[in-house]
Amino acid sequence: YYDGNTVIYLNGQFVKAAEATMDFYSQSLHYGYSVFEGIRSYKTAAGETRIFKATEHYQRLKASAQALNMPYAYDTDELIAATYELLERNNLQDAYIRPIVYAPANMGFQVNTASFIAIEAWQMAPFLGDKLLRVMTSSFERPNPKGFKIHAKAGGHYVNSILASQEAKAKGFDEALLTDMNGHVAEGPGANMFYEKDGKLFTPALGNILPGITRATVLEICKELDIEVEEKFFTTDAVKDADSAFFCGTAAEVIGWQSLDDTIFPKAWNSTLGCRIQEAYSRLVIGLPVQEGVTA
Ligand code: PMP
Repeated sequence: YYDGNTVIYLNGQFVKAAEATMDFYSQSLHYGYSVFEGIRSYKTAAGETRIFKATEHYQRLKASAQALNMPYAYDTDELIAATYELLERNNLQDAYIRPIVYAPANMGFQVNTASFIAIEAWQMAPFLGDKLLRVMTSSFERPNPKGFKIHAKAGGHYVNSILASQEAKAKGFDEALLTDMNGHVAEGPGANMFYEKDGKLFTPALGNILPGITRATVLEICKELDIEVEEKFFTTDAVKDADSAFFCGTAAEVIGWQSLDDTIFPKAWNSTLGCRIQEAYSRLVIGLPVQEGVTA
């Protein structure tokens, strides 16, 4: 992630990653009481560095902090400008960017009067690789929205993600698929999902999932490509009856599934709707129009 030259943004300043410090009494370290974002920047077709959906990500960071009653005194435009400077200082164009808002020293559960912010960036290949995934229905459910602010991207929620992902890998799969408290399909540990059936896409309705920015982008792409898509609740049985399926997320981008548990998807990936969306997404992030030959 970093070497001796890497700098991070820390509370308004740029400091060497290796020399940056934080408080061991932070409420965030002990209780997972932090919020963060996962953002990507790309070298565009024109050669510039562009942070994809920067405003949407920093707005979600603010919404996540507010959902957890964290003081949030940061300005979205200033954070975006700082992020561009961070990329420049680290000589990065294609990067993964990780802002985190964390709490001061507090061994209790009280509300804090301030928060801190750090932003790190590094080069990162697609999070789930570039090969079709063998996915396993997790024995873990996603956190119940009655016990968590599940729409917030909170550090503590990711203990659930880590357990699910580790379980899947220990059983020889590539990634997990988690259900919600009602037994409906929710999402992966770090990505939303879609499946294709009879020429149409389906994705879990909002409510028990992280409202993914890539999920929203996929919905926009579907509109542009005239692909019918429905947001609804469904079980893993519906996914196993599908023609194809894929995960989408900032880190993972768009990546197809080979199978869910013992069920292999019948459609060859390059003839799926997911493949068309994957191509459109990879054009969009580098500033090209979704459809080849059509001006934006
Ligand atoms: N669900 C979870 C649990 C995630 O961690 C992520 C990654 N942030 C996503 C979905 C996808 O969200 P996004 O497209 O905004 O990266």
